[in-house]
Amino acid sequence: MIPIARPQMGDEEKELVWEVLSSGSLAQGAKVRALEERFAAFIGVPHAVATSSGTTALHLALLASGIGPGDEVLTVSFTFIASASTILFSGARPVFVDVEEPTFTMDPGLLEAAITERTRAILPVSLYGQPADMQAIGAIADRHGLALIEDAAQSHGAEVGGRRSGTWGAGCFSFYPTKNMTSAEGGMVTTADPELAEQARLLREHGMRVRYQHDLLGYNFRMTDVHAAIGLAQLAKLPANNARRMEIARRYDAELRGVITPTVRPGAVHVYHQYTIRVVRRDEFAERLRERDVGTGIYYPIPAHRQEALRGLGYEGLHLPVTELLTEQVVSIPVHPSLSDDEVATVIEAVNAVADELGPIEAAVPA
Ligand SMILES: *Cc1c(COP(=O)(O)O)cnc(C)c1O
Repeated sequence: MIPIARPQMGDEEKELVWEVLSSGSLAQGAKVRALEERFAAFIGVPHAVATSSGTTALHLALLASGIGPGDEVLTVSFTFIASASTILFSGARPVFVDVEEPTFTMDPGLLEAAITERTRAILPVSLYGQPADMQAIGAIADRHGLALIEDAAQSHGAEVGGRRSGTWGAGCFSFYPTKNMTSAEGGMVTTADPELAEQARLLREHGMRVRYQHDLLGYNFRMTDVHAAIGLAQLAKLPANNARRMEIARRYDAELRGVITPTVRPGAVHVYHQYTIRVVRRDEFAERLRERDVGTGIYYPIPAHRQEALRGLGYEGLHLPVTELLTEQVVSIPVHPSLSDDEVATVIEAVNAVADELGPIEAAVPA
């Protein structure tokens, strides 16, 4: 089976982790600071605050932006649950807008109609490795004085308009094992705003500037030096790994037939956290790929507003036509950098064969 993800751990990771284990300083320390500095430089922002996960990065960015009870945050439902659950953890209410069909990301054209006097922030998701339309969304956030928090958990190194994901407002990254880089578990908040960064650092560690002096009630959202050591080795490999993902995606774009392949926004650099196609009879399509030894992933089969966890919160009557359509059509195929050229050829053959068996999908979006 060609798996949908295959995290690669080399000697660099082992040596750096061993260095931390031998040093005896395991918790947040020099390696976390080094990862923050190098990640900030890579993204192109002055500040980066490491966290225990992508979920705590989002939670921290919301709290550090002053989001709380009574507030509304505009986000999407076509995402991993953490984009919405962290808004609820902050005490605010997620207000879901639909996504654009070609790019799977927040439709900026729907935002102004969704803004109320309670709206405090916009939280777009840069899904599958492509930035949301951050320029358009950022302009709307500026015009209405709203905070901008980008869920960049899947877009390490992605760009739009010459700027990287994570350079608008607060960027929230995940270093979960399947992401474009990993620290096993971990995350990062990136920002150009020194006050936001300072507030995030305080809230990350019990509201503490001076030891055992607590200026506000904070959390323990820290990363450990053990995880940062893995992250440092992985960050060094990220550009080459992203380039390999893009190279595989170019082959898929050129050679897949009978399926809808991903659309790259003009001026964007897509780093293909996932290569997600749209197909007819999706579940059967995925099953037939598995029979041909090609692993698949469905991201995501149930939109956030339809999740059991959000039942009773008033989303029962909400209808998001594009989101609901996409959840029935999407399937992701392996695009990770450790795929051999032979494995890529196997994936292409399998997808084209299954598309022949099940029939082509009508392109829903006019070219
Ligand atoms: C992975 C992911 C998260 C959460 O990150 P964790 O590190 O797993 O907590 C949040 N949002 C999106 C879109 C993700 O893909």
